[in-house]
Amino acid sequence: MTALPDVLPDPIVYLNGELVPLSEARVPVLDRGFIFGDGIYEVAPLYAQAGGRRTAFRFRQHLARLARSVGKIGIANPFDDAGWRALIERVVAANEADGGLRDDQDAIAYIQVTRGVAKRVHAFPAGIQPTVFVMVTPLNLPDAAQRAHGVRCVTAEDRRWLNCDIKSVSLLGNVLMAQYAAENDAFETIQLRDGMLTEGSSSNVWVVKGGVLSAPPRSHKILEGIRYGLIEELTAECGIRFDARDITEAELRAADEIIVSSATKEVLPVTQLDGQPVGEGKPGEVFAALYSAYQRAKAHEALEAQEAQQGVENESRERVTA
Ligand code: PMP
Repeated sequence: MTALPDVLPDPIVYLNGELVPLSEARVPVLDRGFIFGDGIYEVAPLYAQAGGRRTAFRFRQHLARLARSVGKIGIANPFDDAGWRALIERVVAANEADGGLRDDQDAIAYIQVTRGVAKRVHAFPAGIQPTVFVMVTPLNLPDAAQRAHGVRCVTAEDRRWLNCDIKSVSLLGNVLMAQYAAENDAFETIQLRDGMLTEGSSSNVWVVKGGVLSAPPRSHKILEGIRYGLIEELTAECGIRFDARDITEAELRAADEIIVSSATKEVLPVTQLDGQPVGEGKPGEVFAALYSAYQRAKAHEALEAQEAQQGVENESRERVTA
C-alpha cells in the first residue's frame, strides 16, 4: 500500500529516529498534530553552492525560531542546534545518495515537531515523546518573470487567532487565505486586521512610501519571518530608511511599492493589489536594491560556510600531522 498519490515525489524523510521513503512514513492517528494541530514547524532554505556543498541560509535564526516555537507551546526541544544541523545533513545526504536531490539544486528543509501520541484529551498529557518529522525537497524559487513583472495580490480581513507569532501547524486560517488568493487568480492574500496591515497567508508584507520601507512591528499579530531581521539588516546596508510601525489600509493602497518576503519567495514585488496598480504598476527601486542585497547576503553566507569548513579541515589536518 502506498500512502502517496503516484504523482508525488518520494523523498527520503526522517521520522522519529528513522530514515524512510515518504510513502512509507506513518504517524498514528492519535498523534496530537493530526487530532489537534498541536505542533509547530520550520521551513529553511538550503542553497546549492559550487562544489556540491549546501548553505543552510540563516539557519541559526531558523533554529532559534524553532526553539522559541516549541518553547511557546511547552514542548521540550527534541534536539539542540548541533543535533538539528546533523539531522538535516543526514536527510540531505540520504536524498543525494538516493538521486532525489541533485548537487546543484537548491532545497528546502521542512521540520515539524508535534506534542506526540496520546489518548485524546485536550490538556497536555504527561510523559509523551514529541513526534519529529524532517523532509528535504527541491526549492523552486520564483522565476525571473515574477521578479520582473511583480505579482498580483488580493486583500482580506485577517480572521486568524492572536498567536500568529507561533509557527503552528494549525494553519487553517492561512490555508483559507491562500485558497482565497487561488480563487481570485492572485499570488497571495494580504491580510488586514481592523483596518491595519498584518501579513500574507505565508509571507511578511513590506510597504514603501517616499523611499522609506515600513512593516508592521513584531507582535503576536504576525509571524516574525526570518527575512524580517534580514531585511532590516539589508536596509541598513543599502542606506534605506526602515520604520517598523502600524500601517493603515489607506497607506497600503497608496504605497509606491509593496514587497512580500518568505523563505521560498525571498523578496518579490507586488505590482497589483485588488486589481489596482501598486505605485507605477512595476517593481520599484527599493525592491531592486533589496533583491540584490539578498543575493549578496546568500553569497556572503556561502563564503563564510566554506571558510569555516576549510578551517575545520585544516585543523584536523594539523592535528593528524602534529
Ligand atoms: N508569515 C507567515 C504567516 C508565514 O507562513 C511565513 C512563511 N513561513 C512568513 C510570514 C515569512 O517567514 P520566513 O521569512 O521565515 O519564511
